[in-house]
Amino acid sequence: AKEQGRNNFQFYAPELNASILSRLKLEMELRRALDAGQFELYYQPKLEMADGRLNGAEVLIRWRNDAGQLVPPNRFIPVAEECGLIGAIGDWVLAETCRQHAAWRAAGLLVPVLAVNVSARQFAQPEFAENMGRMLAELGTAPAAIELELTESMLMADVRRTAATLERLKELGFSIAIDDFGTGFSSLNYLRHFRLDVLKIDQSFVRELLQDRAALAIVQSIIALARALNLQTVAEGVETEAQRALLQEQGCGAMQGYLVARPLPASDFAAWLRAYNKG
Ligand code: C2E
Ligand code: CA
Ligand code: CA
Ligand code: CA
Repeated sequence: AKEQGRNNFQFYAPELNASILSRLKLEMELRRALDAGQFELYYQPKLEMADGRLNGAEVLIRWRNDAGQLVPPNRFIPVAEECGLIGAIGDWVLAETCRQHAAWRAAGLLVPVLAVNVSARQFAQPEFAENMGRMLAELGTAPAAIELELTESMLMADVRRTAATLERLKELGFSIAIDDFGTGFSSLNYLRHFRLDVLKIDQSFVRELLQDRAALAIVQSIIALARALNLQTVAEGVETEAQRALLQEQGCGAMQGYLVARPLPASDFAAWLRAYNKG
């Protein structure tokens, strides 16, 4: 009777049926994508506000699907999280980042710290810090070359364990950024217990900065908080000179966004770096 009910449901809800099917199709394609080498990494530079010095670059994944289209991560990372593929994808991102870092250095490029996004499921692994340390050792990359971007919600899941994990990651030499800071509905209390380096100001605040006094007030508070706690700030999604000027005036430390550069494929990023280092 249950099967029957399900069939009826599908019969009467063709749209839902179609969405389940396309979701299954996506999951199957995603399972093949790793083996087929369809993932690519893009790199987006971050600059210091004060002097334009290179602060680092964020590593952002893309998927070139069977049809040759570039699929943005918001379309497949959540699915990868749900179906358990995120572990393998996350390992690939880390390995490819280290490989690229080594290749650029071998080619004589001055490569900044590369910031990698970590998913909740990766961070929740019991031996996350040790695994990260071991993988980097195997890949021959110094942890100091890598920053890990974590979100508030994943830190709050188990505060005691998180504190220990962050402690270990810091010991190993990684730097730690809180991504999308201020959007996570979490308490500020945890900031006292966690060893962190960077607060990334979410682009939703930056976007509204000049129109919305509340957004400006939030950005001011984040910068003041970061300063008091001795953390760096990076504003995300900076698109205009007016946003940049206001953020600098407010004392924001660094910026990332289309105003500096779009996320670039590896070869374009290398060219950007060369031009940057020359000029
Ligand atoms: P995020 O970590 O908040 O990354 C910032 C997003 O803002 C990126 O979107 C970037 O392309 C976009 N962006 C940068 N500058 C600007 C700008 O000036 N204006 C606007 N409108 N957008 C800008 P993207 O690359 O589509 O990534 C989306 C999200 O996917 C990321 O958000 C991150 O949460 C996730 N993601 C990306 N790569 C990975 C990865 O390797 N692993 C995991 N677990 N998640 C990833
Ligand atoms: Ca990020
Ligand atoms: Ca972000
Ligand atoms: Ca985001």
